[in-house]
Amino acid sequence: MTQEATLKKAADILRNTRHAVALTGAGVSVASGIPAFRGSQGLWEKWDPRIFEISFFRQDPVQGWTLLLELDKLMMAARPNEGHNALAELERMGIVTAVITQNIDGLHQEAGSRDVVEFHGSSRRMRCMQCGRTWAREEISLDSLPPRCGCSGLIKPDVVFFGEAIPEQAGISAYGACNACEVMLVVGTSAVVAPASHLPVIAKQAGAKIIEINMEPSALGSLSDFVILGEASAILPQLVEAVKKPA
Ligand SMILES: [Zn+2]
Repeated sequence: MTQEATLKKAADILRNTRHAVALTGAGVSVASGIPAFRGSQGLWEKWDPRIFEISFFRQDPVQGWTLLLELDKLMMAARPNEGHNALAELERMGIVTAVITQNIDGLHQEAGSRDVVEFHGSSRRMRCMQCGRTWAREEISLDSLPPRCGCSGLIKPDVVFFGEAIPEQAGISAYGACNACEVMLVVGTSAVVAPASHLPVIAKQAGAKIIEINMEPSALGSLSDFVILGEASAILPQLVEAVKKPA
């Protein structure tokens, strides 16, 4: 099948479902100026890899926060792109019921997606490590590091660091959505990092068709029923157009 034919076929399947779930990763936000964490242009190449290590953060919160400041700046400056907008539109059309994202940038919500499961938390929220209170990012001043809660607890971005568990409710919501979906869009993620990597497997076992949109073929391999290669911000709008206009 040519790429165009694959895209049309994927659009036909989306048009006929009311239970599609999108699983998104770094590739969706590249066009918003947030580079992927992995790969030669990845953030790990540029930044201290200890930035997301919970043990390091606990040990030296001033240094931990200092590393996080640049990331914070990048996240706060990013705006949704056409890929985020297209997924929000599919939700408004009654096709996509949930977006499960591994991204921490909050851009799906900003684009208008309402049912978003943040598998790895959000840099747009802050959380007290002691009492669990949360705030919007804007409510916390970073002028003096590290920020502390009224209870004297350390405040960290509400992001899942290495060494921390996936938030329980996010896990329950994600597994539930994957079990109930008829179609899963896997977008901009190589789907290699557990436990997010289990989600397409769960969807497939529940009978869902898998539509993959990635720059290059991923480890999903034969799990994907349709693979469309390209930039998410370019392919997703094309897919929405094709859903609207059956050939
Ligand atoms: Zn507290």
